[in-house]
Amino acid sequence: MRDNSSMPDSMPPPRVSELAAERAQVRIGEMLRQGAERLRPASDSPRLDCELLLAHALSVPRSRLYARSTEVLRPEHADRAHALLEERARGRPVAQIIGRKEFFSLEFEITPEVLAPRPETELLVEVLSSHLGEMRKGATGIDLGTGCGVVAVALARLLPDARLAATDVSAAALEVARRNAARLAPGRIRFAQGSWYEAVGDGWRFNAIAANPPYVESRLCGRGALRYEPRRALDGGADGLRHLRTVISGAPPYLHPGGMLAAEHGANQGKAVREMMLRAGLTQPVSYRDLSGRERVSVAYSSTPPLEMMAPPENRASIRPPLAAGNSACCWLQSVTGKVSSNKALTL
Ligand code: GLN
Repeated sequence: MRDNSSMPDSMPPPRVSELAAERAQVRIGEMLRQGAERLRPASDSPRLDCELLLAHALSVPRSRLYARSTEVLRPEHADRAHALLEERARGRPVAQIIGRKEFFSLEFEITPEVLAPRPETELLVEVLSSHLGEMRKGATGIDLGTGCGVVAVALARLLPDARLAATDVSAAALEVARRNAARLAPGRIRFAQGSWYEAVGDGWRFNAIAANPPYVESRLCGRGALRYEPRRALDGGADGLRHLRTVISGAPPYLHPGGMLAAEHGANQGKAVREMMLRAGLTQPVSYRDLSGRERVSVAYSSTPPLEMMAPPENRASIRPPLAAGNSACCWLQSVTGKVSSNKALTL
């Protein structure tokens, strides 16, 4: 019988160069396992995060990793993957590290100037698309504070006949949104820069207004993963409701009768948002719950005819100038398709 017990003693100690080679010899499958373990304390989804980071380091689609799990990582790829894993382990969100985030099965570019899309915002898209989808062809919708453009782009993909617009106060965010739209929904979305309704100008009406405004209470903005995202996209003032107030109170003149305002908000803001909607003169406020069962999106409707129609005829002009025939949101949005070219209210 052979005696193996003496073997370890007889082997020379490994040299540094061999250790380096050993480190470089890691296989993709093993790297995924080790990386997920490394991320466990920092992430709720360590395995997924690790796959996304490794795929980014190797410049391959995530789906290819499994087929290549026995492949040995090249040293430069292993180093790059380690660096990305360490960044994630320190708390930076994956989306910010790789500059991309999936939303509605579409891949969006993101930058430090925009909020990475959250899964709960898919609820906002679903609510809006079912409202606009029930309407005639050419229904109009606007996404206020679009960020990287997810809501408008997802709507454009779901509703081939809808006419869509998107705004943001940040020029840097609009650039990102425009690039995402050019890739994922070319020619479908009209963009304008400005704060909330200032970007829209008077006289435009929509079948739906969407907004995912900053709604985090100021004191919470610097905490946890939120510190890696643009404060301007998160900070809703002391009570978190500052921008929701502006969006909700300003909505009625921009909605067609029966038009819907849909706003995303914080998990504990549903009641306040529904009350604000009623105070603004909107009707039938309803809140929808996200996948964690928390009120996340509230909607309400404009039931009133346009203001100028409600006023007695002699007062109409003093309340609001009548809408010029060519000045409806519909015509403006038709210009997206090239049918109407001029547009005075928006500088685009
Ligand atoms: N849902 C985001 C968060 O809580 C906030 C998004 C927003 O303020 N619009 O991280």
